[in-house]
Parts: sequence; C-alpha cells; structure tokens
Amino acid sequence: MRVAVPKESEQGERRVALVPETARMLVGAGLEVSVEAGAGAAAYFTDDMYASAGARVAVRAGTMLHDADAVLKVQAPRESEISLLRKGAVVISFLQPATQGDTVKSLAAHGITAFSLELLPRISRAQSMDALSSQASASGYKAVLMAADRIGKLFPMMMTAAGTVAPARVLVMGAGVAGLQAIATARRLGAVVSSYDVRPAVKEEVQSLGATFIELPLEAQEGEGGYAREQSEEFLHKQRELIGEHIAKSDVVITTAAVPGRRAPLLVTADMVKGMRRGSVIVDLAAETGGNVEMTQAGKEVDVNGVTIIGARNIPSTMALTTSQLFARNVANLLLHLVKNGAISLDFQDEITKSSCVTYGGEIVNERAKQMVSTA
Ligand code: NAD
Repeated sequence: MRVAVPKESEQGERRVALVPETARMLVGAGLEVSVEAGAGAAAYFTDDMYASAGARVAVRAGTMLHDADAVLKVQAPRESEISLLRKGAVVISFLQPATQGDTVKSLAAHGITAFSLELLPRISRAQSMDALSSQASASGYKAVLMAADRIGKLFPMMMTAAGTVAPARVLVMGAGVAGLQAIATARRLGAVVSSYDVRPAVKEEVQSLGATFIELPLEAQEGEGGYAREQSEEFLHKQRELIGEHIAKSDVVITTAAVPGRRAPLLVTADMVKGMRRGSVIVDLAAETGGNVEMTQAGKEVDVNGVTIIGARNIPSTMALTTSQLFARNVANLLLHLVKNGAISLDFQDEITKSSCVTYGGEIVNERAKQMVSTA
C-alpha cells in the first residue's frame, strides 16, 4: 500500500502531515511511504531524515499523488491535487467541511474516500487520533505566550526592593482543550486566572488547574458529544452583560469559544473592549471562524484605545516541529486503524470510520458533513 505525503501548499502553513519518526512507524507496519522533497523543511525535518526512516523522497509530486493509495495532509487538498488522485484513493486531513463545501463536493465527485479529522468522535478509542485536540492544546499554550509578550506588564507577582508588582489577571473564555491549556500555561507564568464556559461540567477541571470558575446565572448550553450547543442571540446578549465586569478587571482575555460547524459566538463587544485598561491584550483563538471579539481581524493585530486584539491565524503552524510530530501520530493512528492486512478495509459499523469518513463511492456519506456543506 502506497502512502503519499505532499508538501503543504496553503500560504503560511509550516506543518507537515508525517514526520520521519512516524514515517518509520508506517514503514515498519509494511506500508510504502513517499514524502515530497522539501515537505518537512519548514518544520525542521530534512529529506535525509525521511530517507533514513525508510521513506522515499519524491521529486515529482504529481506522479507520487497519482500512484498513491492514501494521501496524508494537514490542510484540505486543493483542486489541483484532487484531480491527480485515483478513484478510490484515501485522503486524511483537516477538511473543514463547514467552510470548504466545494472541496468536499469535489472529493466526492472524483470518487475519493476522504476522512475529516474534525469529525472524529471524541471517544477514548479515538483519543490517539484526535488532531483537533493536539493542535488546540498547542494553540492554548501559545496564546498565553503571545499575550505575555505583548502586554506591558509582568505575569507573576514580584517582590522587589523597588516595590511589589501585582500579578496579571487573565480571563479565559471557553474552557475546552485550548482554554484548559491556556489556563495551565497562564498559571505556570504566575498569573491570577479565571475562566467561564457555557458548559458547567468543566468547572472542576478549571478549578483543578488553580483557576477560578466564573458562575453566571445562565442556563447551561450543553450540546452533543461534550460540545456546546448553538446559543440564541438572547442568551449571548445576557452573557455579555454579565461577563462585562470580569472583562474590565482583566489584563489579558483569551477567547476560545466555539460551537462545531457554526460561526464563533460573539462574546466581547467594542464597548466591552473600551472598558478595559490601556495596555491590556486580547487573544482571539476563534479569529478564523468569525471571532469571539467584535473587532477581531483574522491574521491581524489591532489596537483599540490602547487594547491590543490579536486575531492570530493558524497558531499551531508557529510551533511546526512539535505540532507536526503530534499531528503525524494522530493521522498515522487513524490510517493504521483503517488498514487490515496491508490494504484499506473500511468497516462502516465502526464509530471512528463512520463519523470521520466524509466522502465514499462518489457521494458525501456523512450526515454531519452533509449538513455543514449545505449551510456553508
Ligand atoms: P470547542 O473548540 O468546540 O469549544 C471550545 C469551548 O468553547 C468549549 O468548552 C465550549 O463549551 C465553549 N463555548 C462555546 N460557546 C461559549 C460561550 N458562549 N461562552 C463561553 N464558552 C463557550 O471545544 P473543544 O475544545 O474541542 O472541546 C469540547 C469538549 O470535548 C471538551 O469538553 C473536551 O474536554 C472534550 N474532549 C473530549 C475528548 C475525548 O474524550 N476523547 C477529546 C477532546 C476533547
């Protein structure tokens, strides 16, 4: 079975879907692995490292893709890549079915069997394949470092001969995977941390990391599979009113709130930003799905009355060495889950396969993906 790993073509994407260590693991499992020349360079993995791991370094990406039984990617394949693939070839990557409807339709039309890492079920058996979590953890960590770097203050309390410096106050909105990692990182840097989430189930996790869980007199918004459900505008309006005073007291606000397949909820309005002290920083991790903050601009840093709002894009790519290692483990584990006796063998009774397979046999086979594509 031939596995191909092309160089990522998305602008600014430094990650690679397979690192030499995991290439070795797949070769050891009897798969033939080809990696496009230079594919790992931006994540600090050289062609020689892949060759030493037993992979073939392919100079002609087109031929490599045409011959492939399975293609591993970080970002969804482009049309130019899809058209090179053979009918029945498998693609595993982040597909973003909620925003990349045309790509999903094209994969179906070309008879590709595509798996979307976003749609893996959040069950124990799938944890080792959960790329959404591995990348979100890295983003949560980095968001705090970005804030610490931009703020005009120290994070920890410091007692010096010149006086005592009070610790920075950090508010993390949304305590999912990224939020919890942000809380842990801010605590390690010595900040006083509080957090709010519409799912009260996370209260204990927040507290176990040494942060205060903010309880608002609002109804819980638990959805399916441990996710939040989509909230009404009335709910969000009340939430903004109630959280305003906490935001005004914070030096750093990190927003991570998301509802799968929907635009990110608006948590912080322009007026709320104006209520913050000059020199404060907001990092909006939902920038790419519409933003949790009214003035966020994806990929930009904006200054509003002395408050810096960072709408960073693709934060995992800024730590490409580690995030590629984690991603590669995730994607290789999913691939090996689909392989029996050296060939792809799909069992649609299996929850992992059923939930993450988006296109098969010329059709979009996944109900969640179908819904996302139709509302995209
Ligand atoms: P996510 O990225 O979809 O959302 C981030 C957080 O935003 C969530 O905690 C959500 O409740 C919160 N949120 C949504 N609307 C909000 C609002 N208006 N105000 C404040 N917060 C809001 O979620 P995620 O990080 O992918 O994690 C979702 C859940 O899945 C978590 O409970 C996580 O622990 C769980 N999980 C389980 C597994 C597993 O069991 N294998 C793996 C990963 C994650």
